[in-house]
Amino acid sequence: TIAFEHDAIRAQFPTLAQQLDESPLCYLDTAATSQKPQSVIDAINHYYQFDNANVHRAAHQLSARATKHYETVREQVKSFINSAKAEEIIFTHGTTESINMVAYGISQQISANDIILVDSAAHHANIVPWQELAKRTGATIKPIPLNDNLSIDHCAFEQLLTLSPKLVALSHVTNALGTVNDVATLVQKAKSAGAITLVDGAQAIAHFDIDVQQIDCDFYVFSGHKMYGPTGVGILYGRFAQLDQLVPMLTGGEMIKTVSFTGTTFGSLPNKLEAGTPAISAVIGLGAAISFINSLPKAQVRQHEQSLLEYLQQQLTQLGDITLYGANANNTGAVAFNLANEHHQDVGILLDQQGIAVRCGHHCAMPLMELLAIKGCCRASIGVYNSKQDIDQFIAALVNVKALLL
Ligand code: PMP
Repeated sequence: TIAFEHDAIRAQFPTLAQQLDESPLCYLDTAATSQKPQSVIDAINHYYQFDNANVHRAAHQLSARATKHYETVREQVKSFINSAKAEEIIFTHGTTESINMVAYGISQQISANDIILVDSAAHHANIVPWQELAKRTGATIKPIPLNDNLSIDHCAFEQLLTLSPKLVALSHVTNALGTVNDVATLVQKAKSAGAITLVDGAQAIAHFDIDVQQIDCDFYVFSGHKMYGPTGVGILYGRFAQLDQLVPMLTGGEMIKTVSFTGTTFGSLPNKLEAGTPAISAVIGLGAAISFINSLPKAQVRQHEQSLLEYLQQQLTQLGDITLYGANANNTGAVAFNLANEHHQDVGILLDQQGIAVRCGHHCAMPLMELLAIKGCCRASIGVYNSKQDIDQFIAALVNVKALLL
């Protein structure tokens, strides 16, 4: 087993070693985007300094090197999420693009009387593309109700499955509250009702070991930048048979077999769904991020993150005048709260003045905010680099905010 030396892990993140005004930076916004370890920054630099070339095209050595590295990362992602084939891994620009590619690509399989079930607590990226699909096809969207924990209500879900939905879109972990859904069970139920399943793993990928074959979903999507990798790259995993049926949302170079003015034929997976020059440096950065995660002792990291989250929930509760939303021991990565009747933005600004980075707003989950009957809230979220000192600095700052506002 790999030793768990938290200081050594944190020291790999150069951004975290800075002061903001008088305070050390306390980064509690990993759910929006994670910080990047030096190895990811170095991998991107190395590519631009030594290997920069387009992939899959030229006969020269630099291009061969770039292509090899790019395709190696595809293999790395395959192992990382345990997909059956490397061709099932599509590089996109992020979760948003991945979901749009499915919602667009599946249009021809959807008809006017079809039903699409969408998690009520989903991120807008997992709502709006389905609404657009419904507009194009005449299909109907039905939100999946939540239980008191604000995770998906399995009974209500089973009821909805009696309508034989064509497609089910779920969040693995919600970004607004850190709620965890038992996606393997939900997918199994959806599958027995004959539905195609998509799981949004954007908030799960940095915290859980993901096995897409065990979850057994048709599509699993996530972003590199929330798992210690760079922005500009994401993954669309699809079960080969489902993925191969998607109509490409982007067409052009790289994705074709033959082009003539009498007609064009498309290439095969994965190229068919990767038109144009990809974000090569970001893909290489993602490879370094996977290596970073694989270098960590997984069980201890999980335990560290869970105990930090528990401590965070407990300290917030003890502080008083705090409303927590959907907080429970099963949550992962984030805690959402409001301070008395204070506006979340005011709280956020006063925290920022003390070096604390949290997110305040509707968290791209307006339907969930509506359900909670709030306009927004503050969210503190954690990554592997956070320590108990971060939580203590945050709570001390919140004590000051409370003294100022209440
Ligand atoms: N889904 C969830 C659950 C998310 O947290 C996010 C990012 N906040 C997205 C989708 C969208 O990801 P991206 O902005 O990287 O496309």
